[in-house]
Amino acid sequence: MVTLRQPQPATRQILIVEDDEDTAEVVTAIMSQAGYTVMAVDRGQVALHEIHNAPPDLVLLDLGLPDMNGLEVLRQVRANSLLPLIVLSGYTEERDKVIALEAGADDYLAKPFSPEELVARIGALLRRVEWTVPVEPKLAVRQLEVDLARRVVLMRGKRLQLTPIEYALLVALMRHAGQVLTHDELLRMVWGDQYSGDFSVLRVNVSRLRQKLDENPRAPSYIVTVAGQGYTMPLRP
Ligand code: CA
Repeated sequence: MVTLRQPQPATRQILIVEDDEDTAEVVTAIMSQAGYTVMAVDRGQVALHEIHNAPPDLVLLDLGLPDMNGLEVLRQVRANSLLPLIVLSGYTEERDKVIALEAGADDYLAKPFSPEELVARIGALLRRVEWTVPVEPKLAVRQLEVDLARRVVLMRGKRLQLTPIEYALLVALMRHAGQVLTHDELLRMVWGDQYSGDFSVLRVNVSRLRQKLDENPRAPSYIVTVAGQGYTMPLRP
């Protein structure tokens, strides 16, 4: 039986990514008053860092950010996570909305919006998320299993201890098991755009992960090098 839980606003963390101070202040005030805990950042890179290290329950994302396009922030979030995300935008054209939704936004709110509307949209999205059994609660490839909700990794039933980066790398490879992921694709998915071309950080983490996954890391069977291309997790040994 699936238990339906009402969202508990007091325990919900909202990250607002907005460089316009007035908007950030107003939204923070509205959401705090509605009982949410709010954190505001004004840069896309800072937001990605926060989302990676301490995922909030919901993200409010402005599209016009000083350091990077909000759509790119959105795509990077969606490469790894189903985190509820609402785009707040000054663009009111229908096609801007469609682009944001296609990039993975759950909802789109054009500025200016009323406090009531914002609170209602957030409540509706959180309810939808919590009333839905997670689409992808577990990943499994051969003898490897990951419980995404609990962040638990099991190899042949035995729990592995992974760093957050190793975990993110493993999940990216498992989600695309059977496909080749290029070095840059993996760097983008796991570390973010600024790491493009930084192959040593990838190589080191792949090597550390192999030590944990494979009985014989010199003949890795879970993370296989595809010469000149990248890495793949084969669906069969
Ligand atoms: Ca802006």
